[in-house]
Amino acid sequence: MSTWTHRHILDLAAFSREDFATVLELAHRFRSMPATGARRLPALQGRLVATLFFEPSTRTRSSFELAAKRLSADVSTFSPSSSSLSKGESLLDTARTYVAMGADMLVVRHRCTGVPRQLADALERTGERTVILNAGDGLHSHPSQGLLDLYTLAYHFDASNPLPEALQGRRVVIVGDILHSRVARSNLWALTACGADVVLCGPPTLVPDAFADFLAAPPPGQTMDPVAQRGSLTIYRDLDAALKGADAVMTLRLQKERMRQHLLSDLDRYHRDYGISHERLARSGASIPVLHPGPVNRGIEMSGALLDDLGSNLVESQVSNGIPIRMALLYLMAAAESSVDSPPLG
Ligand code: ASP
Repeated sequence: MSTWTHRHILDLAAFSREDFATVLELAHRFRSMPATGARRLPALQGRLVATLFFEPSTRTRSSFELAAKRLSADVSTFSPSSSSLSKGESLLDTARTYVAMGADMLVVRHRCTGVPRQLADALERTGERTVILNAGDGLHSHPSQGLLDLYTLAYHFDASNPLPEALQGRRVVIVGDILHSRVARSNLWALTACGADVVLCGPPTLVPDAFADFLAAPPPGQTMDPVAQRGSLTIYRDLDAALKGADAVMTLRLQKERMRQHLLSDLDRYHRDYGISHERLARSGASIPVLHPGPVNRGIEMSGALLDDLGSNLVESQVSNGIPIRMALLYLMAAAESSVDSPPLG
């Protein structure tokens, strides 16, 4: 934990392989806490975590709030429709209101790329100690989702030691609306940092050829890639071919709310070509786990039968792993600011 340098958590492109190991190792300890009885640790007692979601969320917000409560933090929830935003208050002024109330951490989701970083920069400029955790910005980044997906896969491959090594050399297919997916982008940084070979699959309108260069240069504002050797990234148009030899497949929602034009002519055809179902998996010849960050468009990116088959998909594990992963992030950020109680051992 001594190597942890992240004050804010904005993007997984800035994470080294050691950072991924730190989060996974800590999350695994939190996950092993007893499911009944006293479930709270005192680590964040006296801290205030505010969740500022300017875009809808079912899983991420409740999971952050549960994680914060399990670490004994106070939690404040911001709801845009009943807030002063509707009276014209700016985003920064809204954030500052929570800072003035003593928020130590702001968990921020916004439909525009870059908002969490702008808030972090603005607070830094005025010397505030409040830290920002990106809970999804536009189509850019969703760090906690990338981390919980990583943990879910590592646990699937090696339940006794769910660390980055478990991903080394694994072929992970991500299929669907990559273009509009911050989850895909975060997974690309996380999985390749841990040595997985990622295959992106979908039609050119949703997986443009330019994605082949996604990892080639560090993102704006970052001078170097903290990972010396990443796994590979390739693009396939044919899902059956992509699934040959795969170790896992992640399917993504068609993000209609972010599509500015009609990128698909026919949803039945999309399901036939890129949907994941029992039949599709049987054709690929391998019994591999299926992940989806949710919410799922049943019968489009994944068949309803497969979604209901908890033996074949890891969707519920992803949701439950979200809590220990977010506990680990909140814990690490608080620890970076000042001393907090040690996490449970063993
Ligand atoms: N829940 C994820 C997100 O916020 C995935 C999705 O919405 O499709 O990005």
